[in-house]
Amino acid sequence: MPPYQMNDNNTTKRSKSSLLCEKSDSGFMPEPESGIVNEKILLLVFEFIKWDLPTLCTIGQVCRKLRAVSQRVLWRELCINRAPTIIGALMHGSHNSQFGGGWHSLGKLLFYCCGCQPTPNIQIQDPKPGHIVKAVRFSKTSGQSFLIKSCREDLLYVNDPCEHAIKGGEDDLGLFRGVFRGFFRSKTRACLINRQVKLEERVRCPYCGARVWSMASAKMVPKSAVVRLGSHKDGLDYFVCINGHLYGACWLVRLSSDGDDDPHDDHDFGQGSARYSTRTS
Ligand SMILES: [Zn+2]
Ligand SMILES: [Zn+2]
Repeated sequence: MPPYQMNDNNTTKRSKSSLLCEKSDSGFMPEPESGIVNEKILLLVFEFIKWDLPTLCTIGQVCRKLRAVSQRVLWRELCINRAPTIIGALMHGSHNSQFGGGWHSLGKLLFYCCGCQPTPNIQIQDPKPGHIVKAVRFSKTSGQSFLIKSCREDLLYVNDPCEHAIKGGEDDLGLFRGVFRGFFRSKTRACLINRQVKLEERVRCPYCGARVWSMASAKMVPKSAVVRLGSHKDGLDYFVCINGHLYGACWLVRLSSDGDDDPHDDHDFGQGSARYSTRTS
């Protein structure tokens, strides 16, 4: 497992650093707040290294104290410093600065492609591993494409799909993710509850570990999502967790025709209806 792997359930073996921190707890070492576990020092260090993500992931695996500081302070600062526009939009009108699942989950969602497990519409033999992404673009216009018409008052940001080649496959796999603003009060959540959609039994959100709804099972996948992604009609699946994180996968058609699209449905979200893959990973 690489040292920067973003895994909440990681059970990393005790390192020397971990042992040092534990000694610190029992009084053999200097005060816990001194040196590297001091928040102000950590903030200065991370400012200097421009909020380097692998380093932040590594910090969280050293010991419990550093993990606590990173989750309480550093992930929030990373999000604010590296994605100020989307964070500003997500916090707009919010009375507190907490997000469902916490800053760590949000930071992970912004900068980490979670890979893909097989789903009913995405039949792949081997799971695709996740990876940190260097650059990413989230768009609320794209997010609108993933909402049914009655829920388009919601604000949802979704990124451009991360493209993964499948060995021997005709089409590439597109992996996408997104986040709602104020999901608890969103129309999408209300709709899921009104329809009495059941949470998936065995699937958990890769970003916060919470339970998820399948939007395909809920019959809440609009055609605009297919059009936006340039996918097959039954070639995509996405899920929304109870904290308002969205993630999913689709088969990206190398070349498709606008003639497949229903002109009466979602005509205002026509981008991406014809595309060639420009693989980035
Ligand atoms: Zn990816
Ligand atoms: Zn989540």
